[in-house]
Amino acid sequence: MENQAKKILQILHRNFLSLKWKKGNRDPFQTLIATIISQNTNDKNTAKAYENLSKHFKMLPKVLANAEISKIEACLKVAGLYRNKARAIKHVSKIIEKKFGGDLKLITYLSLEESRKTLMELPGVGPKTADVVLLFAFGKPTIPVDTHVNRVAKRLGLAPKNGNYETVHKSLQSLYCPEDYLKVHIYFISLGRKYCKAKRPLCRKCPLNVVCPSKKIT
Ligand code: SF4
Repeated sequence: MENQAKKILQILHRNFLSLKWKKGNRDPFQTLIATIISQNTNDKNTAKAYENLSKHFKMLPKVLANAEISKIEACLKVAGLYRNKARAIKHVSKIIEKKFGGDLKLITYLSLEESRKTLMELPGVGPKTADVVLLFAFGKPTIPVDTHVNRVAKRLGLAPKNGNYETVHKSLQSLYCPEDYLKVHIYFISLGRKYCKAKRPLCRKCPLNVVCPSKKIT
C-alpha cells in the first residue's frame, strides 16, 4: 500500500507541479471564517460571500462579534445555509474575543492534538474546518479531508470505501510523511476537480489510470 501511495504522489506531483499553495502563512481568523463559509458551498460562491463580508466588515473577531446578524446574512446570501453560517460566524467571533482575547495565534503554542481539540470546541467548527486552519494558518501537519480528497482517496484504494472523516484522514496520514500532507491535500483536490469528478470521472484522461483500482475505461 505504501508503494502504491508513493507512486500516486509521484504521478500527481509531475502533473500538478505548477500549483503553488503555501501552508502556515494565512491569518487564522480569516481562514476560519472562509472555511465556515465554504461548508457545502462551491469555491466560486465561497469567494463571493467572503469578498462581500470583507468589504462590509473589518475581518476581526471584535467587529464580527458586534455586527448585526442581518448584515452578516446579507453578505453571505450567495452561499448556502447563510443564516446558520451568519450565526456561527457571530458566535465564533464572540468566543474568540472572549476566550483568546481576539487572537487565535495563541493556538500556535499548543500541540497538534490540543490545537485541533481547541478549534473543534468552537461553534460551527468540525474536523475539516479545524484541519484547514491548522494546515494553512499554522503550518501544522494534518490532512484536511474535503469532498474531493474523500472521493479520490477511496477510489484510489487509499482509504476504506465506507470510511468516515477520521478514518480517511488517518488512513492518508499513515501512508504519507507529514512533509507531504499539504501536497496530498492540494493534489487530491486538483485531481478531483479536473479528472476524478463525482458523477462522471474522466478516467481515460486521468494521469492515475495506470494505478487506479476504480478506473472505468470502456
Ligand atoms: S482513473 Fe478514474 S476513478 Fe481513478 S482516480 Fe482517475 S478519474 Fe478517478
